[in-house]
Amino acid sequence: MGNCTMDEYSMHIGGEFTDSTGDDRIPVRNPYNGEEWASVPSGTEEDIDRAVRAANAAFESDAWAEFTQSRRRELLYDIADVVEANLEELARLETKQNGRLFTETQGQMGHVAEYFRYFGRLCEAVGSGRTNPVDGTKADLFNFTKKEPYGVVGAITPWNVPILLSAWKLAPALAAGNAFVHKPSEQTPVSALRLAELIYEETEMPDGIYNVVPGDGEVAGATLTSHSGVDKVAFTGSTAVGREVAASAGRNLSAVSVELGGKNPNVIFPSANIENAINGVMRGIFASTGQVCMAGSRVLVHEAIHDEFLDRLLDNVSAIEVGDPMDPETDIGPMAFRDQCETVKEYIGLGEEEGATIAYGGDSPEGAPSECFIEPTVLTNVDNDMQVAQEEIFGPVASVIPFEDEAEAVALANDIDYGLAAGVWTEDMRQAHRLADDIRAGTVWINQYRIIAPNVPFGGFKDSGIGRESGLEGLKEYYQTKSVYMDLSGEVTDPFAGEY
Ligand code: NDP
Repeated sequence: MGNCTMDEYSMHIGGEFTDSTGDDRIPVRNPYNGEEWASVPSGTEEDIDRAVRAANAAFESDAWAEFTQSRRRELLYDIADVVEANLEELARLETKQNGRLFTETQGQMGHVAEYFRYFGRLCEAVGSGRTNPVDGTKADLFNFTKKEPYGVVGAITPWNVPILLSAWKLAPALAAGNAFVHKPSEQTPVSALRLAELIYEETEMPDGIYNVVPGDGEVAGATLTSHSGVDKVAFTGSTAVGREVAASAGRNLSAVSVELGGKNPNVIFPSANIENAINGVMRGIFASTGQVCMAGSRVLVHEAIHDEFLDRLLDNVSAIEVGDPMDPETDIGPMAFRDQCETVKEYIGLGEEEGATIAYGGDSPEGAPSECFIEPTVLTNVDNDMQVAQEEIFGPVASVIPFEDEAEAVALANDIDYGLAAGVWTEDMRQAHRLADDIRAGTVWINQYRIIAPNVPFGGFKDSGIGRESGLEGLKEYYQTKSVYMDLSGEVTDPFAGEY
């Protein structure tokens, strides 16, 4: 049996904290001040194997068989209550791990509860199939379909929105009746372990249905996605790793969904309400220090309003307060960890080499409390072919690109390998509908940006992913359909007949 104190975590397998088979530990640092405040074990191949076996045993257990739709609904509602009752603590842990504003992580925990309740309500829908008429000349048959869970879900999540992105997987997976093994990001493993502890303390979660093994992606993550005991792989992370994960799941013919990166256009037309559009651009790329897959990192502005728009945008950017994520006056906090901050700086340098101009920011703010801080940055004179316009920077860096007309806006918006999300700012509703049709992305916001909801599917076109999370589509990722034929004739006479 392992232990769990405020800062020394072990793994959560089979319903309890347990020690790793290895000795390596992963330090967890607060990016605001660089302080190391916790550590977790670096899960080994044996640890993952143990968790997958525990999940399989739990999935087959009598205890889980008793969790019919209505009991799973109650379980999901109870988890929502647990999250709400511990909202401050969980939000604080998130902020301490990745530096996201405390006001923001508190809001995220509210969403987490909403997602569990939404999928709790959908439990009943999982139970219902349909009846299908079968051609009466073939046989007298009755057919019905059932929705059945895959079995064990192996889930891998990134560091930018740890608990919420885990909930997007755990809630529908449980609603559909699966067991779950979670490998959180090595940057942000503590909140996942604390959530598992709270859920096991406060709800009737059967042992082994929900397991958390922290560890390195290339060891623990790769072992999970290639494990033959995992029936469905659910991943959120970068496109590069997503390709590996999907290939690895494919070799086992496991079901797989991958939510990947984005390089999202935020398109502003002359008829737009400019005040709203500026707020939408700021929300798109600077909120959360730009560390979101749906960041509106390519700001496409019609040339007729480009200069005025840019002036007003820069005015607003210069008022951004960078600082302590626990301070409610702060607008943006640190990057989640030092290497990510370095990557962002390298991209800014690359942009300059490519010919872009740094119109604002570009460096660490003076007197920053740690090495994780970067100023909100606006790049102009950007060509859509540049690397800074094509690659996901995952930081507060906006590339402003002018366009001549609607056709060019659409061409630029789509001239990218990604297809996660887009924003369109126009008061011309016909134009809005045309853009919603023409932009190749999983989500298009018209005169809004970065809105999500539990009942609305979210996911990517092109290199931004396979599958959807949230909504009925999100639930469907976690069950498979069984067809049952029942003979009503009572006569099976011809041994060589058959339809296939
Ligand atoms: P990564 O792809 O680097 O890592 C994501 C997770 O995968 C981590 O837990 C990581 O482990 C693990 N991992 C790494 N290598 C492997 C491997 N070979 N096999 C299995 N698992 C592995 O992404 P980041 O954590 O850097 O997150 C940022 C990315 O996530 C961005 O590209 C962003 O766009 C995307 N994202 C997408 C969202 C969406 O819904 N579309 C939402 C949020 C983020 P380790 O801890 O060791 O790194």
